[in-house]
Amino acid sequence: MRVYVAGNIVVDETWSIDELPQKGASIHGRKISQDIGGKGANQAIILSRCGIDTHLIAATGRDIHGQWIRERVQDENISLQPEEALSDHSDTSIIFNSRDGDNAIITTLAAAEALALERILLYLADAAPGDILLQQGNFSVEKTRALFSWAKSHGLITVFNPSPVNPDFVDLWPLIDIAVVNQHEAELLHPTGVNTLVITQGAAGADIFRADDHLFCPAAPVQAVDSTGAGDTFLAVLLASSLIRGVEPDALALYHASAAASITVSRTGTLNAFPTADELTAILTHRP
Ligand code: ATP
Repeated sequence: MRVYVAGNIVVDETWSIDELPQKGASIHGRKISQDIGGKGANQAIILSRCGIDTHLIAATGRDIHGQWIRERVQDENISLQPEEALSDHSDTSIIFNSRDGDNAIITTLAAAEALALERILLYLADAAPGDILLQQGNFSVEKTRALFSWAKSHGLITVFNPSPVNPDFVDLWPLIDIAVVNQHEAELLHPTGVNTLVITQGAAGADIFRADDHLFCPAAPVQAVDSTGAGDTFLAVLLASSLIRGVEPDALALYHASAAASITVSRTGTLNAFPTADELTAILTHRP
């Protein structure tokens, strides 16, 4: 069983600044970190660290960042396709953190948009019934819908994390088996008709709704320093825990996901904050 993640991979640059700049201002800042990011890559990396056979379909650019991403991803045990660059520039997220705790984020989408549907379908050619197609919100509604339609007609299990959120995603629910949304996305998109609905609520925990079943798991109590990537960690570990045991996302998967996400929120950064493969093995073999 394989998980195909079709989405984005970006260079995350985090900058520390005194205050968010006013229009026309020129300010100094300090670059704090640079690492791989993007919701597609984040979720693929964590799935792979959990021991899942993971295939990331995400585009990089011809710039130095693209080369760096393609080299850096080799440290993680995932296959990244396309192997060649598609756009002039790799996608980038520049995260500005101000002294008073505010932030502003600029993300580019050119590489993700350069990845045509037909090309993604080529990389999905080996997918078999029972494999998973996981998508986030970085593709257009049309491309996201076409991929999920293809997946359903080929017997794949579809998993959707509609972030960044687009109100037009509301039409996609009939194609989705497992939806993972935060409270804001749940309010905007009203997920209905999915087999398994997971709603995360930050420090308050997370719920699973399935048919007449409702499960809740409180967040693990930790000193939270940076919640970036908590949702990606949660989703990937929830999926991995259930796939490893051959079950639908259940109470134990919720517990494993909460434990893993609590590690991510207790550390700064994104990739640097994610649990390691050893930490994930310990979590996934733990029965409370
Ligand atoms: P992000 O966009 O920041 O990655 P999200 O909005 O997709 O996150 P959240 O609902 O904020 O997702 O968090 C996902 C899960 O992470 C929660 O259900 C919880 O288990 C864990 N989590 C988030 N914040 C905290 C916290 N302060 N303490 C402990 N666990 C947390």
